[in-house]
Amino acid sequence: MSDSYKIPRTQEREFGGALGASILLFLMPATVFYLLLTCGTEQASVLNIPGLLPALDALWNPITLLLLLAWFGFQALLYVLPLGKVTEGITLRDKSRLQYPINAFQAFVVTALSVCVGLACGLRLSYIHDHLLQFAVSASILSLALSFLLYFKSLRAAESELAPGGNSGNPVYDFFIGHELNPRLGSFDLKYFCELRPGLIGWALINLAMLMKEVELRGSPSLAMLLVNAFQLLYVMDALWNEEAILTTMDIVHDGFGFMLAFGDLTWVPFTYSLQAYFLVQHPRMLSVAVAAGIICLNAVGYIIFRGSNSQKNTFRRNPNDPKVAGLETIPTATGKRLLVSGWWGIVRHPNYLGDLIMALAWSLPCGLTHLLPYFYVTYFTVLLIHREARDEHQCMRKYGLAWHEYCRRVPYRIFPYIY
Ligand code: NDP
Repeated sequence: MSDSYKIPRTQEREFGGALGASILLFLMPATVFYLLLTCGTEQASVLNIPGLLPALDALWNPITLLLLLAWFGFQALLYVLPLGKVTEGITLRDKSRLQYPINAFQAFVVTALSVCVGLACGLRLSYIHDHLLQFAVSASILSLALSFLLYFKSLRAAESELAPGGNSGNPVYDFFIGHELNPRLGSFDLKYFCELRPGLIGWALINLAMLMKEVELRGSPSLAMLLVNAFQLLYVMDALWNEEAILTTMDIVHDGFGFMLAFGDLTWVPFTYSLQAYFLVQHPRMLSVAVAAGIICLNAVGYIIFRGSNSQKNTFRRNPNDPKVAGLETIPTATGKRLLVSGWWGIVRHPNYLGDLIMALAWSLPCGLTHLLPYFYVTYFTVLLIHREARDEHQCMRKYGLAWHEYCRRVPYRIFPYIY
């Protein structure tokens, strides 16, 4: 590799630099455990911290670790099977393009069929409910171990393979953000594999386990549980079906693979995104058909905005002359790429985040209005997307300069029309 492909030292550190990263290293797992412990108590009160202490006894269970290893192994096997097509990612600094298998949806179908066979043979999926905290502890240990392996591997990577944002020279910061951009074992891409498969499919499996637990306890699943399962299953299946779209996301293009993404993908997503279903097992809610219909409509509105805007941009980026997007108004940029200023992307600068947040609210509402806990996801997600939007703006400003200013002038609101 020539020196021209070298990644310069990261100057601008995010999340408060090394100190912020050190705090997040503890805060992220602590938040997962706190949420699960709180959800498991009778009151599910976010202020009842002393009430959580008795449950701390039962944090470790080696069987959950073995089961998670088997789960990752199974998903890794499905990843390498020659199902589906192979596609190329974006052009890298050294002008090369990596190849990626597009078979996450097939992996999901095989997993779903295997689970159905397992259930027919008497598999007790509610075991996941009964040991959820222990699974989360084991997932955290695995995420941490993977992060160390990734960091040590990155120390031997070529300079051109490092992540632009994770090359600060501070080991704690680089460990957290991710030092290497696309760590691979042969052709097996570790970041791409972890982004969607074990965690996202695991999230749907945990939700199903909660539903099975409800059936065990009360004879049939509640309407609230069915809604939460159906909404989130749609979201997971949508992400897997549109797997190719993640190749142009910030996570794949810009962020290295370190603790932030490893823990996020393998622990945070499956164990905190399934909180509503876990909550409903301990705290059942009766929903009237009218309320359920209203929540379904809200989720549908969110999904239409989310899918419509993401597909519009992906189609435009792949082929601006596609008849579906060719009639949209655009502005040119100095890079040769154009920016959409009509259609979904003319309403706000991140319509996909708006749709995602509307859906997040619809996932919490089936849990009623008595507790804060089921609203954790929509609250955290609002903070995450506002922060992510700011990061993306910053990068777009650098990429597109004056053209981005013009876009901001034409489309003044970031996520929420007339509000923000
Ligand atoms: P986006 O899909 O929002 O992509 C941002 C990029 O789109 C920009 O960097 C720019 O890249 C391009 N772009 C921005 N404005 C325009 C425009 N007007 N015209 C054309 N291109 C434009 O990135 P994310 O990865 O943040 O989000 C993808 C989806 O994933 C979202 O729906 C988000 O809500 C969801 N998400 C979900 C998470 C979860 O935990 N559930 C976590 C994070 C994201 P360029 O010009 O280089 O193409």
